[in-house]
Amino acid sequence: MSSTQEFHIAVMAGDGIGLEVMAPCLDLLNDACARVGGLALRFEEIESGATYYKEHGTALSDENLARAAAADAILLGAMGLPDIRYPDGREIAPQIDIRIALDLFAGVRPVRSIPGLMGPLRDPRAQNLDFVLIRESTEGLFASMGKTKIVDDNIAYDTMEITRSGSERLFDFAFELARKRKAAGSPGMVTCVDKANVFGGFAFFRKIFFERAAKFPDIEARAAYVDAIALNQIRNPWAFDVLVTENMFGDILSDAGAALIGGMGVAPSADIGAKHAVFQPCHGTAPDIAGTGKANPTAMFLSAAMMLDWLGERHGEPKAIEAGKLLQGAVEAAFAKGTLRPYEMGGSNGLKDITARVAGALNASPSSRT
Ligand code: ATP
Repeated sequence: MSSTQEFHIAVMAGDGIGLEVMAPCLDLLNDACARVGGLALRFEEIESGATYYKEHGTALSDENLARAAAADAILLGAMGLPDIRYPDGREIAPQIDIRIALDLFAGVRPVRSIPGLMGPLRDPRAQNLDFVLIRESTEGLFASMGKTKIVDDNIAYDTMEITRSGSERLFDFAFELARKRKAAGSPGMVTCVDKANVFGGFAFFRKIFFERAAKFPDIEARAAYVDAIALNQIRNPWAFDVLVTENMFGDILSDAGAALIGGMGVAPSADIGAKHAVFQPCHGTAPDIAGTGKANPTAMFLSAAMMLDWLGERHGEPKAIEAGKLLQGAVEAAFAKGTLRPYEMGGSNGLKDITARVAGALNASPSSRT
């Protein structure tokens, strides 16, 4: 009898639609593992977020963070509610604190079209987008979070921090990802996105980029200014392969990337470090639609598929990679006919319909179980 590989998953559903999209996602993950066979996930629920803060005075306790860190991976829904804030007015955002606490330096934001779902661009090439934006997630302008200096109510200073070690590991990650993608048919190109023509910090960032590029002669290294990338993200995004950038630029460009494939409801993400990783949809808690059944769970499902792929790569477990492919394939199959149209894209399909179609496609996909 063959043995079962079990992974321990910390589940932080959070607030608002985070809770709604997480529940069906766990069922689909179990289904995907069952279809592959010999693979199981043990979910550990970890309470955190704005509602938790209101009740307990902390958004994420040290004990709960340690429990999450002990898991093989963390699956996160969405956190934060506009009416529940820290005394200084800041939003509750433990998902950002976790990036710092667990040193999750690489924010991976795939921009991959879902066949059957039209994005806003009319060019037919925009129906087959497939690039990845890597957002540095522990420094950059976000290093100033909570450290803003305001002088005499007259001038405010937020300082951007770019470190050599933070940049080197970021660029190595980007080049390695480009190499993996090249093996699967992508062009093998990394573009450093910066503002090196104006800021010394970005010239430093770019210098380190080309130093690291020398270690990856099989991958083409390019650099471009962020304003040009913003233009080309709309004009010819099909020309991109891997983009790598600073935290704040990445924050902005990744939302624009989500728009290209249909919006926040379909955009997955991963925050990856040397030891830990968090997988979560790009969207927030969407309090305007929470409880209405209109939440689109697609981004959550695709993030879960990324988690399976990462677990498989990290632990040399092809069954997890296969389960991730099954889940991603089921999402694509659900939308392929073009008859499923989420509410936020002007359609009338919400959480239940989309989940049912993905579950149906998953159950119809070939099972490798013997
Ligand atoms: P945050 O401030 O953390 O980004 P948010 O919910 O205010 O959180 P977004 O996640 O950017 O902001 O979402 C903006 C709007 O897009 C939401 O208010 C909602 O109307 C819509 N939206 C976001 N995610 C989804 C989803 N999964 N399904 C349907 N609509 C969504």
